[in-house]
Amino acid sequence: EERQIICSGCGVAVQTKDKTGLGYAPPSALERDVITCQRCFRLKHYNEVQDVALTDDDFLKILNGLGKTDALIVKIVDIFDFTGSWLPGLHRFVGGNPVLLVGNKVDLLPKSLNQNRLVNWMKKSAKELGLKPVDVMLMSADKNQGVEEVAAAIDELREGKDVYVVGCTNVGKSTFINQIIKAFGGDSEQLITTSYFPGTTLDMIDIPLDDGSTLYDTPGIINHHQMAHHVDKQELKIITPKKEIKPMNFQLNEGQTLFLGGLVRFDFLKGDRTSFTCYCSNELHIHRTKQEKADQLYEEHLGDLLTPPGPETKSDLPPLVKHSFRVKEEKVDIVFSGLGWVTVNGTHIVLEAYAPKGVEVSIRESLI
Ligand code: GDP
Repeated sequence: EERQIICSGCGVAVQTKDKTGLGYAPPSALERDVITCQRCFRLKHYNEVQDVALTDDDFLKILNGLGKTDALIVKIVDIFDFTGSWLPGLHRFVGGNPVLLVGNKVDLLPKSLNQNRLVNWMKKSAKELGLKPVDVMLMSADKNQGVEEVAAAIDELREGKDVYVVGCTNVGKSTFINQIIKAFGGDSEQLITTSYFPGTTLDMIDIPLDDGSTLYDTPGIINHHQMAHHVDKQELKIITPKKEIKPMNFQLNEGQTLFLGGLVRFDFLKGDRTSFTCYCSNELHIHRTKQEKADQLYEEHLGDLLTPPGPETKSDLPPLVKHSFRVKEEKVDIVFSGLGWVTVNGTHIVLEAYAPKGVEVSIRESLI
């Protein structure tokens, strides 16, 4: 009979199979006298928080829990994957609590990009998605840019109340919390604890604030619409930009097609010769072809020439879904959540874009 091992830190059942799941510990950890899950181990020994993945059911419980608090909610999104990292439904649960929306990973954007436009687009999109944040800010948790400003805004907006930091997995929530812990300096080790999220068995990281209030880091939530769920780890590395994006320019005539790896197909149906600028990972291969050849090319070369996905993951890729766009008088971006976007440097254009089912494709006023 298998013995249930409980983490001495947070009380969760310890498991050694799912590295990103709740209660994970490497098998070697089971040989120690005091057994803790990896998350608690890192917190205790390195003052470092790590995110755990959640089920949908737990996600709902978290949303419910937030509605019962009187607190400031800080919602972190990945600006490179805005709709993919959005937490749908949050607005219905926050009640009267103010929400500060923070866009992370601003270091990936080319310098030519107008950050005010990005903030305005985030405000507009949030409103369309039903959320009215009290403010929208940008930061790079990784490069420690704007983090201090966000911390100051949190301190002002919370008006003495507790703070809940929420976000879906991979937005950089842990990186942000770790920067905040670092800023505390010295004896934070003794101060940081974990507690259960109300109504669940999920633990949160609790960081004490000066006035006796607490900043809670809630577990990260999995969003199934993220591009990240359609490729494997290796491929995810290719599509996730790691440094400042270098825009790639293509002069196209109508009847030409671009493939962004094998994940996105972009058809220029009608319009004068136009330049299209791709903002995506510098490592993602972009392939240009004629539209009349595109179907066959995709059929024959998905997984090799058109990659990611790779030969192993191509059969798991959901079918591509078509999205049609008409560009009228203003310059636009066609945004592929989790992958990047294509700026259309022209007007009076008809386009069709294809992306795997579930991956959001949208149009916005150009940020450049
Ligand atoms: P969490 O799941 O929300 O806790 O996300 P993590 O903090 O673990 O970060 C997820 C990934 O995003 C990691 O590979 C980080 O290195 C990366 N990341 C976090 N913050 C930033 C940032 O500001 N810029 C960039 N480029 N990457 C970041």
